[in-house]
Amino acid sequence: MKRIVFLIFLVAFSQCKSGETNPSPTSNNKIAIVIHGGAGTILKENLTPELEQEYKKKLEEAVRTGYKILQNGGSSLDAVEKTIRVLEDSPLFNAGKGAVFTNQGKNELDASIMDGKSLKAGAIAGVTTVKNPITLARTVMEKSEHVLLAREGAEFFAAQNGLELVDPSYFYVENRYQSLLRAKEKEKIELDHDDKAEFYDPTIKDSKYGTVGCVALDKNGNIAAGTSTGGMTNKKWGRIGDAPIIGAGTYANNSTCGVSATGWGEFFIRNVVAYDIAALMDYKKKTLEKASQEVIQKKLTQLGGTGGIIALDKKGTIVMEFNTPGMYRAAIDSNGKLTLGIYKENE
Ligand code: ASP
Repeated sequence: MKRIVFLIFLVAFSQCKSGETNPSPTSNNKIAIVIHGGAGTILKENLTPELEQEYKKKLEEAVRTGYKILQNGGSSLDAVEKTIRVLEDSPLFNAGKGAVFTNQGKNELDASIMDGKSLKAGAIAGVTTVKNPITLARTVMEKSEHVLLAREGAEFFAAQNGLELVDPSYFYVENRYQSLLRAKEKEKIELDHDDKAEFYDPTIKDSKYGTVGCVALDKNGNIAAGTSTGGMTNKKWGRIGDAPIIGAGTYANNSTCGVSATGWGEFFIRNVVAYDIAALMDYKKKTLEKASQEVIQKKLTQLGGTGGIIALDKKGTIVMEFNTPGMYRAAIDSNGKLTLGIYKENE
């Protein structure tokens, strides 16, 4: 009898120690992770074999970072944050170092993160000195009573919480600056040839994407999702995209799925893309695959939006759905199998 009481005590103690006092009823001990590094006109003929290898190497490093955390029993939130930090620190992607430039020649960063267990979320927009925006988004979620902070206020909050701040020049990458110059040149030519210049900047559509995102499922059945970006080249007027908008660029709910999006943000906001996928699963009992196809290939495409999503459900199903020629992506499934992809065909 004493032994049984001791055993019960031991089990209860180990649960408390892991910080998981209320394990999710959906827990099946499966872990899985999926990431993206942006969608867009990514064509094989435009990437040298060396650059292709560089992207693949960084994607693999990032996805393995998160997977290791999950394997060691870490939380999906930790996996998402640490994985995205690897991508933010790489100049290859449009997030953190390597972010695209605004019309004013600045780098303004947006990010968000969501916890599928508690439905808590944190997001930041338009920051210019925070080295890792995803960590700031998580800090907003955990250390403030708000969901979305922007610009100076967000920077002040970052400093108050001891986050690493950098000089704005840290984010500068030459080819991103050249993209801005090209976008402005193109815009000028278009404006010169059309007095009915549209209010909406047409060059924005052709700008390079490259947002990063991650969705993870941990051993306790908890799903988390996060997204980080510099937005779109030549963005103006303090423009903020879908990445820091919960429900548009990022969403997570243990009972349905986690989603991170990339693409032409305005369309993702108007279609409430990430939440719509979860809602189709919830209300219409669609599978993650069917819900993602419907939202990306039908609803988003019909409205003229371009881009894609990565997503995971509680069973560990991985989806990488996009309507562009390519999307940088990687995943490790619940059997430990790694997938890396760039173009439409999986290669
Ligand atoms: N969705 C991002 C934005 O509109 C851009 C991207 O994903 O490349 O800000």
